[in-house]
Amino acid sequence: APTRLLIIAGGTSDEHEVSLTSTRGLLSVLDETVNPTVIVLTREGRWLSPQDSRRVLDGATLTEGAAKQLDSSITRLVALLQQHDAVFPLIHGKGGEDGCLQGLLELAGVPYVGCGVLSSAICMDKLVTKEILRANGIPQVRFVPVVRLEYEANPCPITAAAAELTLPCFVKPVASGSSIGITKVMHIRELDAAIRQAFAFGSRVVIEEGVAGLCELEVAVIGNEYLEVSPVGEITHSAEFYDFATKYTPDAARLLIPAPVPDEVVRTIQQTALRAYKLLHCSGLARVDFFYQPATGNVFLNELNTVPGLTPGSMFFKLWEAAGIQPATLVERLVCLATEHKL
Ligand code: ATP
Ligand code: MG
Ligand code: MG
Ligand code: MG
Repeated sequence: APTRLLIIAGGTSDEHEVSLTSTRGLLSVLDETVNPTVIVLTREGRWLSPQDSRRVLDGATLTEGAAKQLDSSITRLVALLQQHDAVFPLIHGKGGEDGCLQGLLELAGVPYVGCGVLSSAICMDKLVTKEILRANGIPQVRFVPVVRLEYEANPCPITAAAAELTLPCFVKPVASGSSIGITKVMHIRELDAAIRQAFAFGSRVVIEEGVAGLCELEVAVIGNEYLEVSPVGEITHSAEFYDFATKYTPDAARLLIPAPVPDEVVRTIQQTALRAYKLLHCSGLARVDFFYQPATGNVFLNELNTVPGLTPGSMFFKLWEAAGIQPATLVERLVCLATEHKL
């Protein structure tokens, strides 16, 4: 019998709409035989019925009253999850990518695609990720952690530490995605406003040294115990940085696969991605993002994304296509990995 697959989409984070786009993308690459059920978690945190979820994906806007919700009792939701052989959690950001949803799926006892609770939680948190990478000697840019209560009590030590970094610097909420809440700070006098803006997304922030003249390189890893790494791709664009608009405006960015960089850089990136994937206990899949500075030859790991964008044009699919794996086959592999042992 075909696998009964359930996709969970939407979510309460600012990446709600991005998740719907990824879900439409995922549906468009799947074989017709798969025919998954989709349930959408609304921005307000309500679980829509499969019928209403499909209508939302088709572009309908449901008014609060019109939406037929799954019974608010968690039992109904869990029963629906358990009617499926595997779940594909495709919510980006808070609640969906950070281990919360993965924990629900663990408790429901249903196999799911992608990273488990621990690795999802670690990778969603840029600071915890950095601390683990640092402890293991993985190259990354210099950074300054900021905690709201401490900063509000006395911003001076943070401002002084940030002044040591090469400008421009990047101010980020620790649990962001799609570049939401990130500011490129050109002058130290802009720092405070950038930090306060990032605090709107959570109580911790990271300030990172900017890499001048960088190439943005990305690589994908799949697997649980036996790991496979994709070719390396480069993203080029003419924006100040790879911000939200550049990510989601058609043709604003170009993907070059394979990336036109020396073989040695490709090997370093693939090996570093595999090391980081293991160190952070990832399973299923991740997209690992790097900065490469041709002038110095330096390679820095930026972050691991455990729920990367999954439209047909997304880097994750394109990287595996370059390795000869078509999107439909790739998704089948991911679903198989879900039913294997997870870390
Ligand atoms: P994603 O959508 O990939 O999850 P994100 O919201 O987690 O993104 P980052 O990848 O950390 O955010 O940063 C977004 C973009 O900002 C990068 O792709 C890059 O263009 C720019 N950027 C971030 N940090 C730096 C840095 N230290 N130096 C130079 N550019 C940077
Ligand atoms: Mg990210
Ligand atoms: Mg992300
Ligand atoms: Mg990124």
